[in-house]
Amino acid sequence: MSECKVLWKSVLSELEVLLTTVSFDMWFKDLEPYTVENDKLVLIAPLNSFKSINKNYKDQIKKAIENSGAKISGIEIITKAETDNYTLSNEEEKEEDDGDTVNMFDPGYTFDSFVVGDSNSIAYAAAEAVAKAPGAFHNPLFIYGGVGLGKTHIMHAIANYILSQNKKAKILYVTAEQFVNDYIDSLKNNKDNELNKQFRLKYRSVDVLMMDDVQFLSGKTSTQEALFHTFNDLYQFRKQIVLTSDRHPRELTFLQDRLKSRFQSGLTVDITKPSIETRIAILQKKAYAKKYDISQKAVFFIAENITSNIRELEGALSKVVFYCSLSGRSSDDLEAVKDALKDCIDVSSHVISMDSIADATCAYYGIKKSDIIGKRKNKLISNARQMAIYLINDMLGVPLSSIGEFFGGRDHTTIMYARDKMTDLSKTDHLIQAQINDIKSMLEKK
Ligand code: ADP
Ligand code: MG
Repeated sequence: MSECKVLWKSVLSELEVLLTTVSFDMWFKDLEPYTVENDKLVLIAPLNSFKSINKNYKDQIKKAIENSGAKISGIEIITKAETDNYTLSNEEEKEEDDGDTVNMFDPGYTFDSFVVGDSNSIAYAAAEAVAKAPGAFHNPLFIYGGVGLGKTHIMHAIANYILSQNKKAKILYVTAEQFVNDYIDSLKNNKDNELNKQFRLKYRSVDVLMMDDVQFLSGKTSTQEALFHTFNDLYQFRKQIVLTSDRHPRELTFLQDRLKSRFQSGLTVDITKPSIETRIAILQKKAYAKKYDISQKAVFFIAENITSNIRELEGALSKVVFYCSLSGRSSDDLEAVKDALKDCIDVSSHVISMDSIADATCAYYGIKKSDIIGKRKNKLISNARQMAIYLINDMLGVPLSSIGEFFGGRDHTTIMYARDKMTDLSKTDHLIQAQINDIKSMLEKK
């Protein structure tokens, strides 16, 4: 055995005692002694990122060298590519060899293109903090919420931001399914007992690990084991971890308790369904970004009728735009908009909008719509108006200011008064309760 191999063997056996198995396996086991130069033992590492070993394990390395009695002053980590020109005293680092920072992130998913509203403002703020100082706070950041509400968008926004500040940042984005598949592959390729080396390199040499949709982590214990160790290793080095899921970590029932508690050890934030205001803002932003020509009326109609999911909201927007441009109809014509959307919303049966609620309410009380929109004040008309305001707020969640606009530019305090009055009555007055139910069922059957 060559001199440097003997040296390394003795230092390595001391390191094994000083380090946890995980750190030892991850960072030291695969180093290959190359030569001794300037009193230092030169080791070849599989990746550039191993150069941080000297900093991260400074004390342990020093101690291991002392304990082994090896006559060296330290270790030096180089990559294979550097062995040729290594003897040059002024060692140039070939950072390009590292070149796997391909931007795999959707350039359209940025913080700028993300509309902030009550439903996502906390997640947004947390994501921004993480992007500005990865690993410093909120580790891990766990974002959960229903389908199509912006989890992936916000994750990519974090990555795009970090890369805009540092092109070389190593950010690994995977879906939980990919992680599981990678792990299974690594087991298959487990030749000459190099237990899933590729896998470990891939997952533990990153600055930021992003795992999307962790609800798809299968119940396999060994995969969870691998994730647990990956997590701990990254966490220990203050590498940022970002996770998303469709539910709170405590509801990931198939997950080992220790992973569940790791997932919750940083900051857990949710994204909920957007309010109508946010839906309108999202539609306007998308329409503007895509240079779509679409009427305000159509935007309101889409926002009123598609409430559950932002992906569908976007889909409806392009449907309307394309339908109108192909058919030559104007998006100002609500019938055209309804035709465009007849597959995604049940337009024929119940499109519930401010208009349809006002219509149903008027029909129920036998009055004209122009009366409740206008200023007439007799008791029947005022009651009907208050009922319509209450129902619009209750069924559509439309903000008071927009309801005010709808009712001929009334002040939002007037609207609030009407809503509060009806809310109280709806709890105490049986007649009002019955009327509310009647009108609602008219709307639903329509
Ligand atoms: P999830 O990962 O939660 O299922 P996505 O991140 O894929 O949802 O979002 C679905 C679509 O909705 C994407 O096109 C995304 O850009 C858009 N989207 C979601 N939330 C917002 C938002 N707040 N502002 C702008 N676009 C959004
Ligand atoms: Mg997603």
